Amino acid sequence: MKAEIMGIGTELLMGELTDTNSSWIASRLPALGIELQWVSITGDDLPKLTEAFKRGMERSDIIFTTGGLGPTQDDLTREAIASALEETPVIQQEVVDDLERYFAARGTSMPQHNIKQANLIPSAKWIINKNGTAPGWWTERDGKIIICMPGPPGENRAMWEEQVEPELANLIEDEVTITRNIKTMGMSEGAVDEVISEFFGIENPYLGIYSKADGIHLRVIARAKDGVSALAMIQPVERAIHERLGPYIWGYDDETPEQSVGKSLTERGLTLAVMEMCTGGALTNAITNVPNSISYFKGGIIAHEDTTLSATGVPKAEMERYGVVSQHTANTMADTVRRNLNADLGVAVTGVPGPGEFEGKPLGLAYISVTNGHQTRELEMRLPPRQVTIKRRVPNQALIELRRLIEETS
Ligand code: ATP
Ligand code: MG
Repeated sequence: MKAEIMGIGTELLMGELTDTNSSWIASRLPALGIELQWVSITGDDLPKLTEAFKRGMERSDIIFTTGGLGPTQDDLTREAIASALEETPVIQQEVVDDLERYFAARGTSMPQHNIKQANLIPSAKWIINKNGTAPGWWTERDGKIIICMPGPPGENRAMWEEQVEPELANLIEDEVTITRNIKTMGMSEGAVDEVISEFFGIENPYLGIYSKADGIHLRVIARAKDGVSALAMIQPVERAIHERLGPYIWGYDDETPEQSVGKSLTERGLTLAVMEMCTGGALTNAITNVPNSISYFKGGIIAHEDTTLSATGVPKAEMERYGVVSQHTANTMADTVRRNLNADLGVAVTGVPGPGEFEGKPLGLAYISVTNGHQTRELEMRLPPRQVTIKRRVPNQALIELRRLIEETS
């Protein structure tokens, strides 16, 4: 089934609102075996919307829309479908009753404008909206389906999960899609691509490669008539990825670096302390995003200049000799915080805090150190000179280095 998604609303075209609805819907389609071909945005304009629906009916089997189902004059999704399909809308008394009940339950009467939300064309049936006034539309004509949901994410997601997805699954039950996401760090995108090149370019199982803030991700997608067959298609690819990239793999599917580290620490009953400089608490923030981090994370120091480092035990003379931004200082920081907070493991990052150079070193240079007091892993990073990138990538890399140390030594 070939699909398209339309975000509807002039505020989307103006850049005032980001079309998160479409990307959310897009993320739900692979598992249903629906192949997304286009995503578009159309303003609240009847001729343009009508044209968009006509085009969609020609090129797609299924069209998803969000927005434009409200009661106001600029909500034109229903009118545009009626015009594209040349059908006449008729007021449905049962929907009027439902709307009246909705307003009565809130102690008011229904404004007259809302009556247009009770319009239905012969090819459409309505989808109940438990969280708002705008019912959705499920339209079927000439073997094609149009599914319209309201704009507010809270309304369309609930509608999707409770009504749209189950019905779609019934329609397409002859096919399942299984996805496996394998996350690596330490090899460049080009190098990963080269090592497993023979698996690219195949439609099923499909292998995609994506560069993310926490490394290079490989996503294998297989479609088959049942789950067992789809899994059997994924396995040879996954095995090859393991054989060739094993040491670089740190996680799977939705796992984050902090969850992966949390799991490793919990399994072994180890504790952790951090000292960070140049990341403004981003490392501590990531670690504490894991719900049970209290069981292994002791806390740490967030420094933004060298006097904070010396006040918390990093010898000034060493920083003067090697530099605040140096591997030596990173190693000293990791071991200092590990001992001071009485933890099994210490992690430290030090880098140029920005906005410009520091100690004659460029923004983007950072050093990572992780230690258990006996073994230490060191890493130098050279990132693009942007503070947001540094804050995102240095903590991820530090967590993955930490995970490697734990896996190697215990
Ligand atoms: P309502 O009954 O609330 O008017 P509607 O179906 O008419 O619903 P819109 O008026 O188009 O929807 O949008 C209502 C609100 O929903 C927007 O102000 C915005 O907050 C949110 N919204 C709409 N479209 C999107 C989108 N594509 N992505 C994210 N949010 C959206
Ligand atoms: Mg509206």
